[in-house]
Amino acid sequence: MHIPFNKPFLTGNELKYIKEAVVSGKISGNGKYTKLCQEFLEKKYRFNKCLLTTSCTDALEMAAILINIKEGDEVIIPSFTFVSTANAFILRGAKIIFADSRLDQPCIDEKKIESLITSKTKAIVPVHYAGVSCDMDYIMELAEKYNLYVVEDAAQAIDNYFFSKDGTKKALGSIGHLAAFSFHETKNIIAGEGGMLVINDVQFKERAEIIWEKGTNRAAFFKGEVNKYGWVDIGSSFLPSEIIAAFLWAQLENLNEIQKKRKEIWGRYNNNLNQLRKDGKLRLAALTNFSSNNAHMFYIICKNIDERDDLLNHLKYHNVNAVFHYLSLNKSSYYLNDNNLINLKNSDFYSDCLIRLPFYFELHNNQIDYICNLIIEYFDENIQ
Ligand SMILES: *Cc1c(COP(=O)(O)O)cnc(C)c1O
Repeated sequence: MHIPFNKPFLTGNELKYIKEAVVSGKISGNGKYTKLCQEFLEKKYRFNKCLLTTSCTDALEMAAILINIKEGDEVIIPSFTFVSTANAFILRGAKIIFADSRLDQPCIDEKKIESLITSKTKAIVPVHYAGVSCDMDYIMELAEKYNLYVVEDAAQAIDNYFFSKDGTKKALGSIGHLAAFSFHETKNIIAGEGGMLVINDVQFKERAEIIWEKGTNRAAFFKGEVNKYGWVDIGSSFLPSEIIAAFLWAQLENLNEIQKKRKEIWGRYNNNLNQLRKDGKLRLAALTNFSSNNAHMFYIICKNIDERDDLLNHLKYHNVNAVFHYLSLNKSSYYLNDNNLINLKNSDFYSDCLIRLPFYFELHNNQIDYICNLIIEYFDENIQ
């Protein structure tokens, strides 16, 4: 039995909707399926406005343009994240300031942010790692105090919620001024490559559509708001075609079913491995009391890099493709070209010790049990 790390799940209607889009003769962006997806997500999660993009990376780049990032501005991001969280702002000339992760889980340690804020700081970009929420009450209060923007990197966070101390439950992506989601084939809801920008701060609404449409007011023209369209701002080609939106719509129609299954998988991993956690052999994917769980990922954390590599090899030997995750960006060759090595203890630790286990809709119970038994066996054979 070979178990891959990921396997894209098709709900069944993807090709039907793609065919419909193709036959309709309208396959460029911002058509029927784009609108269906955007309106569905706006309503379900109380997002002020959604714009589908060709990737989360693109949505982050749009966010950087919207908040007018320019040469010399500083943007605070966690070091334990994907390169796009940093690149989107670097492309506009920003200097990236890395914050460490929390001790109990890989999200940004909100308590480490304030000491990094300077007169040049423009934005904070919290990343909801594994779909688990950052402490958004704390981060939004900091942003207000220092007059900063918050761009949520919600790439992994579709269909998850933050429990605010005011007693409300807020969808991730609805809290920051802007938020970016991914529909890459490794995420919960997929479109091959795809993403979405969420605009919660209404001041950005109009300009977001212009940047989305290559710097023209084309969207306003098609809504009848202006009688001709032209070049009004900078922008790029950030819209996905209707072919991608049609695929995404088939996924969104089955969102509940997908999420239900993923939560069952997450729960089975957690139950099967819980004894190892209790015995202090390893740590399991963490939740916090202010976040619900969207079952994006199930990870385990080893004691050190040698044990992590050894366990990965053990799994690989038995045809299980488990993988490690981000290499702490503060240690990347690109960052070290112009910066000195900084020590971010927790971020470095997750980059050395974390393992993501195979996770996809069609992962069967017997496969989960097989993977867990391999892990249990590994620790049995390695009793220190
Ligand atoms: C997947 C991911 C991205 C990039 O998403 P794309 O849609 O592939 O551009 C960015 N940030 C995080 C945290 C991610 O997990």
